[in-house]
Amino acid sequence: MDDRIIDLRSDTVTKPSPAMRRAMAEADVGDDVYLEDPTLNRLQARAAEIFAREAALFVPSGSMGNLASIMAQTTKGQEVICEAAGHVYNYEMGSMSALGGVLPRIVPAEDGILVWAQIARAIREKTYYRPQTALVALENTHNMAGGTVYPTELAHEICDKAHDAGLKVHLDGARIFNAAAYLHEDVAAMTKKFDSIQFCLSKGLGAPVGSMIVGSKDLIERCRVIRKLLGGGMRQAGVLAAAGLVALDEGPKHIPTDHENAQILARGLAKIPGIQIDPKKVQTNIVIFSITASGLASDRLVERLKQRKVLTGAVDPTRIRVVTHRDVSRADCEDALRIIGEVMGAGY
Ligand SMILES: *Cc1c(COP(=O)(O)O)cnc(C)c1O
Repeated sequence: MDDRIIDLRSDTVTKPSPAMRRAMAEADVGDDVYLEDPTLNRLQARAAEIFAREAALFVPSGSMGNLASIMAQTTKGQEVICEAAGHVYNYEMGSMSALGGVLPRIVPAEDGILVWAQIARAIREKTYYRPQTALVALENTHNMAGGTVYPTELAHEICDKAHDAGLKVHLDGARIFNAAAYLHEDVAAMTKKFDSIQFCLSKGLGAPVGSMIVGSKDLIERCRVIRKLLGGGMRQAGVLAAAGLVALDEGPKHIPTDHENAQILARGLAKIPGIQIDPKKVQTNIVIFSITASGLASDRLVERLKQRKVLTGAVDPTRIRVVTHRDVSRADCEDALRIIGEVMGAGY
C-alpha cells in the first residue's frame, strides 16, 4: 500500500477504466477525414443530444476546442472578453492571438465569475479606429478560481445581454459536468444560450483524450474546417470516441463522489496549522489552499509531498492546488491529508 502514488495534480491523470479499454478495443472505425468513422459519428451525435444542440465535433484537446470556437466567431483584430485568471488567456499559449489574430480583453472577477456590468465596461465603442469586441468567453467551472460555478441565471443574463450588444458567447465548459453536479441541473438547460460550448471528455469524465465542441450545425461546420487548418483532422479516431462514449455515459455518475472527496480534503486541510482555506468556498473537485502562514514556498512543499508519494501542484509561490477524480478514493484523500499534516508539521 505504501507504494501507491496519490495523484492529486489534476483530473486529467485518470486512466481508462476496464470498460473503456474494452470499448476502445472493440470500436468500429473508419476514416473521419472522410466523415466515415461510425463510432466518432455516434459520439458527436450523442454529445449534441445531451446538450440539445444541432451538432457536435470531437477535437483532440480542450485548447483546440476553445481556439476553434473563438476563430469560428471572430475576425482578425477583434477582441475577446475573458476573465483574467481564465484558461484561454493563461494556459493556451496565447493561441487566440498567435493563430487567431484576436486580442484577449482581460477582466478580473471575484472567484473568476464575471457579471454583466464588468463585461459591459470592457465592450469597445463602435468606431472604425478601435478594435471591435466580438466575443465573450466564460469558464464554468473556473479552474484557477478553485472550481467555482456560474449560477445559471447569471450565465443566461450574460448571454442575453451580450447578444443584445451584438456579441457571441463561448463557454469554456471543460468541467461543465462538475458545475451541473454542483447545481443539480442539466447541462443542456445550463448552456442553452451559449453560441458555442467546449467540454472535456478527458477530465472528470475519465476519457484518455479529447474534447467536444457543441453548437449549431453552421458553427460546427466552421469549426471542422478550422480543426483541419490546425492539423486536427483525425483518421480512425473511433478508438478514442469509444472511450468518449463510455465517459459520457459513466462519467457524470462519479462526479458527486469527487466533490465529496474534495470537501473531505478541504475540511481536513483547514485543520492543518499553516494552511488557509475556506472549505465553504470549495464547490466542486478543485481545492486551492494557501500556505502563506507557514512561511514555506509552495514548490518546496510540492517536492516534499512528492517524496511521500502525494502529487500536488503549485499554483504560485504561496498556493497549492489539489484535484479529486475517479482514480483517487476517499481513503486516498485521508492518507493524503495525514501526509500533508506530517510534512507541514515537520517544518520543511
Ligand atoms: C483543461 C482545461 C482546458 C483544456 O485543456 P487541454 O489540456 O487542452 O485539453 C480548457 N479550459 C479549462 C478551464 C481547463 O481546465
